[in-house]
Formats: sequence, C-alpha cells, structure tokens
Amino acid sequence: MRKITEIIVHCTATRERLDIGAAEIDRYHRQRGFDSIGYHYVVRLDGSIEKGRDESAVGAHCLSHNVCSIGVAYVGGLDADGKPKDTRTPAQKRSLSALLTELRRRYPGAKIHGHRDFAAKACPCFDATKEYVAL
Ligand SMILES: [Zn+2]
Repeated sequence: MRKITEIIVHCTATRERLDIGAAEIDRYHRQRGFDSIGYHYVVRLDGSIEKGRDESAVGAHCLSHNVCSIGVAYVGGLDADGKPKDTRTPAQKRSLSALLTELRRRYPGAKIHGHRDFAAKACPCFDATKEYVAL
C-alpha cells in the first residue's frame, strides 16, 4: 500500500438532487481522459457509499496531492442555478463522517482536507478541514 498522508474531500459539482453515482462519474472521467473514476469513494444522495478507484491506486482528484491521498466525493455541490452550495443531505453527512472516521482509523496521521485547501475552487463547498478536525 502507498503511504497516505491526506484524505481529501470533494463534491462532484453537480446540481442538488441530481442522483448520480460512481458509474456515471467513472464514465464522465473516462471521457475526460482519465484511466477511470478519479475518486476512491463516492457518497450518494441517499448516503450509500460506492467504491471508485482502489485505495492502493493513485487517484486523479487533486493536483500535486494524488500520490499520497485518498479522494472522497459527495454527490452535489451546486444549487439549482449551478452556483456552489453545500448540498449534503442528512444521509450524506452521516455517511461522510462514518467513512472519514474509518479512513482515519486505517491511516493514522492522515489529515482531512477539503479540495479548496489546495486549489482556487469552492470544492467541496463547505469547510471540511474545520468540520472534521475532531475525527
Ligand atoms: Zn474537488
């Protein structure tokens, strides 16, 4: 297994209530020229957690941070007009906390960040570093 020092949270930058999952994202990322879905996990609107890229494989989700990180995305992040918004459903919030807790347990010392900590983007449309500091 590669060394994991960061767990990076994303949104899929899709409009709220659009119910997609790992299969659709995989197709979209392949169209953009990636080998496969860039994230390692996807949290759907109903809170179900779908596997993306294998954890042992380097992801494609955060420039200059892929080698040492796990990428987790919740579906959503845009309002009906396409503007950045924290659209997480209560079920997504519960699943994200559970998944991030599990990843922190398996990768002790890895820090949880939002994509926006490393890029001039709104992603994941909330302050993940602050929200998950206690996990
Ligand atoms: Zn992102």
